[in-house]
Amino acid sequence: MRTRVLAGLLMLSASWANGQEYLPYPGASDIAPPMVHNDHYDAVLEAGKGADIDPAKGYRIQDLGAGAFMVTEGTYQMMIVKTDEGLIVVDAPPPIGDKILKAAEEIAPGARITHLVYRHAHVDHIGFAARIVATNPGMEIVAHQETADILARANDPNRPMPTMTFGGIDQPFTLTAGGQSLDLTYSGPNHEPGNIEIWHADSQTLMLIDVVFPGWMMWRRMAIAHDIPGVFDLVGQVNAKYDFKTLVSGHVGRTGTKADVEEQWAFMTDLHGAALKALGSTAIAEGMRAEDTTNPWAVFDNFIDRVTVECVADLAPKWRHKLSGFDVFIYDQCMAMEQSIRVDGPSL
Ligand SMILES: [Zn+2]
Repeated sequence: MRTRVLAGLLMLSASWANGQEYLPYPGASDIAPPMVHNDHYDAVLEAGKGADIDPAKGYRIQDLGAGAFMVTEGTYQMMIVKTDEGLIVVDAPPPIGDKILKAAEEIAPGARITHLVYRHAHVDHIGFAARIVATNPGMEIVAHQETADILARANDPNRPMPTMTFGGIDQPFTLTAGGQSLDLTYSGPNHEPGNIEIWHADSQTLMLIDVVFPGWMMWRRMAIAHDIPGVFDLVGQVNAKYDFKTLVSGHVGRTGTKADVEEQWAFMTDLHGAALKALGSTAIAEGMRAEDTTNPWAVFDNFIDRVTVECVADLAPKWRHKLSGFDVFIYDQCMAMEQSIRVDGPSL
């Protein structure tokens, strides 16, 4: 619906068939909106960068302590826990793929992978699972029942069904193996139904995927959140719920801390406030041609665009130079937020 908008400050222009130019809305930020060619994104900030990755290996292992390790190729993250019986692997993102097996061999040469834990059902975090199962026959796959239900419907050979499931909300399931234990807790729908928190108490590591993005703007549409109020509940409560030193968040090149969660929570509350304010101050059908005002889809397109534009302009001065990728996804966040407020309700 924003394909008709071009940012005037990009020094671009285009025309309708009748020769009239596309114009940005009054008060629009100079951040390029979606669906225009942007050849000058803001630079990644230092706070968004992880440690260097050896290009010859293509991955980095971070020792989290007490037998837990984070593995990243710079964009995705997964975790490996060394036990007296072998290895517990948490998540299997295809972009890391074979590097997971190499990292496992580096962490514990010759060790068998005894367990694979699914954080949630999305392909981009567990789509390499079948390859791990193939080389570790008899391995247990652990997931919440909600994830098992989604995988049963998906019927995807790359994401084999769990062999151990647990159910319920806020009823931790403790996975123990070879002297190690992981507490798996489902707090209710958030990023995806079945998306669990994984707590390794011995290293004070919390693994929570696709919800917090240390140093970065969240992925688009609040990380394609299935349940935006659920994401707000989780981010708002997670620092009080776990006494963690390290957050493995599933994305970006570095691990996070409680300060990163606080920063994202501050951004999310500002986002909510800006969208709520714009919804209250934006008039319906303002500046539209009279003949278009009989088209309800067009009226809402115009309204949502102007709410989004105001929300972006409101947030940019404070947040543009605090979060890497702010300029990339801020329009998506404002649009997702205003929509959630309209359908889920205005309270946080
Ligand atoms: Zn996901």
